[in-house]
Amino acid sequence: MAKQEFSVVKIAERLQTEADAYLMLEELRWSGQPPACPKCGEVGKTYYMAPRDGTRSRSTRTGSRSQRRVWKCRGCRRQFSVLTDTIFHGTKISLRTWLLVIFEVCASKNSVSAWEISRKYSITNESAWHMLHRIREAMKRDPLAGLLRGTIVADETWVGGKPKNRHANKRNPASGPGVTDKQPVMTLVDYETRTVRSRAVADVTASTLSAVIADEVEIGRSQLWSDGSPAYRTVGGQMNSHHTVDHSAGQYVRNGAGTNLAEGYFSQLKRSIDGTHHHVSREHLDRYLVQFDWLYSNCRATDSQRMRLLLSSVEGRRLTYKPLTAR
Ligand SMILES: [Zn+2]
Repeated sequence: MAKQEFSVVKIAERLQTEADAYLMLEELRWSGQPPACPKCGEVGKTYYMAPRDGTRSRSTRTGSRSQRRVWKCRGCRRQFSVLTDTIFHGTKISLRTWLLVIFEVCASKNSVSAWEISRKYSITNESAWHMLHRIREAMKRDPLAGLLRGTIVADETWVGGKPKNRHANKRNPASGPGVTDKQPVMTLVDYETRTVRSRAVADVTASTLSAVIADEVEIGRSQLWSDGSPAYRTVGGQMNSHHTVDHSAGQYVRNGAGTNLAEGYFSQLKRSIDGTHHHVSREHLDRYLVQFDWLYSNCRATDSQRMRLLLSSVEGRRLTYKPLTAR
């Protein structure tokens, strides 16, 4: 097994105090250089404010001691820390706990539940749940990421529990033979890079699936692999080529083209939802899909590489409690 930069033991040993955790995050985010000011954007004008008494902690307004490492900007005169304007902004959870939880998320194939985090780290279930959602913010795709191009595998699946196992008031009133209230999810996988983009969709009609593909794929420069569903015919005809495989005949690969990549993603998604989270409400499904897409898209990286990657995108992704719980 290749030597890993991080492990639970290595992180725990390195983070004896909160100040250690701040230092570690400063190193990972800023590579040991004074950062640009997160308040005014000035470069080369920030400096670390060492506590006056020579210790590693300072007094706070409430009179307690804090090991938060404080920086200041000569340009705008304002103070900040490595947590300012990131997913950690304003958190009450220790940074040591954050870094350990982030490592667990980066190292878990089937994702970790809030309940598990709450138990392992002695924090409330609510805090754990909120932490995981903030971590998912950092996993969101870069808004400037372009369209997928090349060989694109498309497939759909349905997630959610069986209607007969639900309380009567949660059942789809239209449920009956041939009707399901499961949630369809469409997934596109770039065959070469393994980049995945998934979306909860209203239905799996030709117009819906074509619209998603048009949104995510450079149609004129790509070829499509899908199952034999007629819903893919029109959009497939607009692409360079369209290969189909017949799932009903147990076929997942034909002439090198196949949808088994998407099948691999779906089995991971279902294992996570059924085995870890048990039930995912529709309103949060999109956030979970962000996490599954991120984990799958970076499945060729090591746990440590994923941790570095995640910490490189924590900036500018603040998530306050309100939009998360607003209906
Ligand atoms: Zn400044």
